[in-house]
Amino acid sequence: MPRERDYSRLVMAAEPKPFWLDRPDAPAVRERLSGEVACDLAVIGGGFTGLWTALLFKELYPERSVVLVEGNRVGWAASGRNGGFCDASLTHGAANGRDRFPSEFDILQRLGARNLDAIQAAVDRHGIDCGFERTGTIAVATQEYQVAGLRSSGAAFLDTEAVRAEVNSPTYLAGAWDKEGTALVQPAALAWGLAAACERLGVRIAERTPATALASDADGVRVRLRDGVLRAGQVALGTSAFPALVRRLRPYIVPVYDYVLVTEPLGAAQRAAIGWRNRQGIGDSGNQFHYYRLTADDRIVWGGYDAIYHFGRGLRAAYDQRPATFARLADHFFTTFPQLEGIGFSHRWGGAIDTCSRFCAFYGTAHRGRVAYALGYTGLGVGASRFGARVMLDLLSGDRTELTELTMVRGKPIPFPPEPLAYLGVQATRWSLARADRRSGRRNLWLRALDAAGMGFDS
Ligand SMILES: Cc1cc2nc3c(=O)[nH]c(=O)nc-3n(C[C@H](O)[C@H](O)[C@H](O)COP(=O)(O)OP(=O)(O)OC[C@H]3O[C@@H](n4cnc5c(N)ncnc54)[C@H](O)[C@@H]3O)c2cc1C
Repeated sequence: MPRERDYSRLVMAAEPKPFWLDRPDAPAVRERLSGEVACDLAVIGGGFTGLWTALLFKELYPERSVVLVEGNRVGWAASGRNGGFCDASLTHGAANGRDRFPSEFDILQRLGARNLDAIQAAVDRHGIDCGFERTGTIAVATQEYQVAGLRSSGAAFLDTEAVRAEVNSPTYLAGAWDKEGTALVQPAALAWGLAAACERLGVRIAERTPATALASDADGVRVRLRDGVLRAGQVALGTSAFPALVRRLRPYIVPVYDYVLVTEPLGAAQRAAIGWRNRQGIGDSGNQFHYYRLTADDRIVWGGYDAIYHFGRGLRAAYDQRPATFARLADHFFTTFPQLEGIGFSHRWGGAIDTCSRFCAFYGTAHRGRVAYALGYTGLGVGASRFGARVMLDLLSGDRTELTELTMVRGKPIPFPPEPLAYLGVQATRWSLARADRRSGRRNLWLRALDAAGMGFDS
């Protein structure tokens, strides 16, 4: 492997904040909630999961009251700082879905495609200006052993010449273009637009209002706030990587940090040098993979590769910045696009991913069916969060529906062990995945043991 070049100074000149949230037209802060307030449905968390839940509930039951409480700002967490790949897959990709849910895989694919169409329809219906582009994605092979997998993936196969004609990188050996299964969005704008749509339908949204505890009785659920109480008939939890308010769920999730760089806007000559006229999202095919795409003003968003876990399920603002990872990402960027050498980066940031051992969300209820949750999207929740919202509403309805009966909805991932085992396990897995990438994908004993235990993942 060639030695990494040192791009530390270049990346540290970038603004240390998410590009998507850094906008002059970002909404003003909403009021906190205090005192005692009653509602039919309380939604905890103002990311995509919470926002879709509030919106879909209000569309279904306009006469019922909904209050959404967000501990910080709407869309500030994963929902406003991701790559903006809005994918149809509900299972974190076809391979993971086929392995874990073989008997209902086709149904899940159909539900996922329908979910993505419904997101597009909602964006249109509510006039959400979030740069929604149904470009699809190209999975690219940068090592010979990855080519066969792309050829059999079912997506349109592109040989070396064809893939480089789409996007010009000397590292590409082949590609598979799935034209329908992904849209690209400006994710913060989607979150803000969903919040505005909720409010137009009568949802009350409070920011800087963390919920601290839940208690239930025959009348409903009391959601304790720092400075008040929300009395709700039912509660939906969309709290992602943050400590779950239902304690028994905590072992199922570990926060894993993922990092992103954004370039300055490309000039006409730089744009011509890479092609990319069809603006697809791109992902490479290693275990440690990069995802990248263009923005509306022709910057490149470049993220992924490192996945960092901090001992004790650590979750801190300081972890959003990781200079060594940014420098590594820049090095990989210029290896992929050497013709862009000299371009600068405008933004750098990281964010916590709600990782669970089955790599796609899990669902359920607590407090005798009055509290529902959808957690654990493991880095592919931009699209799947709307499905998670639908599942929660079906679970809260008490009815048996197509969604509540799915094996995927009824089952749970294997919980992570307590520390220090969780930390050691994550480190061993990261080390083994990096090694497999250097050894033509060959999985060592540890990865094969995880595969056998149902905790393996092969991107
Ligand atoms: C760097 C990065 C890149 C990613 N790229 C992609 C991608 O390209 N495509 C994709 O599909 N997915 C991607 N993801 C994952 C995706 O962003 C998430 O799956 C999705 O946004 C999850 O939405 P959410 O609403 O469940 O969680 P979040 O957006 O994290 O929202 C949870 C909210 O709950 C609030 N909250 C938590 N606890 C409380 C409490 N007790 N009281 C009140 N509020 C509370 C938090 O403040 C937060 O706002 C990425 C994630 C990261 C971090």
